[in-house]
Amino acid sequence: MIKSGIGYDVHRLEKGEGLILGGVKVSSSIGVIAHSDGDVLLHAIVDALLGAAALGDLGKHFPSSDEEWEGKDSLFFLQYASELLNKKGYKIEHLDSTIILESPKVSNKISDMIDNISNAINLDKSSISIKSTTTDGLGFIGKKTGIGALAIATISK
Ligand code: ZN
Repeated sequence: MIKSGIGYDVHRLEKGEGLILGGVKVSSSIGVIAHSDGDVLLHAIVDALLGAAALGDLGKHFPSSDEEWEGKDSLFFLQYASELLNKKGYKIEHLDSTIILESPKVSNKISDMIDNISNAINLDKSSISIKSTTTDGLGFIGKKTGIGALAIATISK
């Protein structure tokens, strides 16, 4: 049995000290405003994984009202979701994702992000896809006031 789930996340950007994407620090004069480490890529992937197993979303498992998760490394959330799926008898088959931001360029960091995800959930790198795109200057992402990510997870039982 094959199941799939989607994930979508957006965070606000303002002047700051860089971004964390896929657990990788990206140097930038902008930063993310978020309750956790603001890793939109991992948040979208976690939502996709939880969604594929119909197990709710990141906010249900880790409420932003709970101070325990403040500034938390999102690789922890990813590992949690992976272990939860394993406990329910699911195997993660594939992850595909897209980071949507205007700048900085993140394409040279993608292989490090894939390494982090692969190590965190013990999934072969050939089954982890991360892409990046801009919105061609349009909308809140184009105006650099936000960053987004989309993900789809395929799991089997
Ligand atoms: Zn998020």
